[in-house]
Amino acid sequence: MTIRKLIAGNWKMNGSLGMLHELDGIAKATFNHPELDVVICPSFTLIAPAIVRQPDMTFGAQDCHYDESGSHTGCVSAPMLREVGASYVIVGHSERRIEQNETNEEIRAKTTTAIANGLVTIVCIGESRAAHASGQALPIIGAQLDGCIPPDATSDNLVVAYEPIWAIGTGNTPPPESIAEMHASIRDRLCLLLGSEGKKVRILYGGSVTGKNAEELMAIPDVNGTLVGGASLTAEQFVPIIEAGG
Ligand code: PEP
Repeated sequence: MTIRKLIAGNWKMNGSLGMLHELDGIAKATFNHPELDVVICPSFTLIAPAIVRQPDMTFGAQDCHYDESGSHTGCVSAPMLREVGASYVIVGHSERRIEQNETNEEIRAKTTTAIANGLVTIVCIGESRAAHASGQALPIIGAQLDGCIPPDATSDNLVVAYEPIWAIGTGNTPPPESIAEMHASIRDRLCLLLGSEGKKVRILYGGSVTGKNAEELMAIPDVNGTLVGGASLTAEQFVPIIEAGG
């Protein structure tokens, strides 16, 4: 089965209006690769200006609330993201799990609301360095999937990103055999949770992806694209990753 690859950029709390010109080169590479999906997830404040700059590109957000509206000062809802033109949303990033104490239960609620509002939802999972070192990665990933994935999600509205926390922003990636083992286990779990839809859900690898390692990473079985942090901020670094996916 051929699964369409997704290359997603997570700008985190970086970027500015003055940086949006980087989108021009990224858009050019994206349009040269119609066989791929490419999405950039900038900060909330940059989504609308990014769409104005590159109206034919796809944009997403880095979080949403699990309620559609209400008394949640400082939060942004899935309908608000849709209204402004976002098509994707990342939920459950390890930085939010750690800094905002997000639980699997909250992430599942966010995923349900995001999907109900027409957002393709990228659910992040991944183990800590300590869990990796003590051989607990597989059970932790399994529990995260069980806790975060709504039973009616489909391959059209759900993407899973496997991001070992110890690989994010460190320049270290796990060996290919280890990524293959993790992705195979995620695929098995998705099939248990979602039946035949689980076979088609895209599973991204994230953590220190660069133009140098992207091709090798995306050649690993069941790696259906990448979630890229630091190297998504400039066209110079992100375009080679797009090229590697094509
Ligand atoms: C991320 O935080 O989602 C990520 C993958 O970061 P980086 O590519 O910088 O390791």
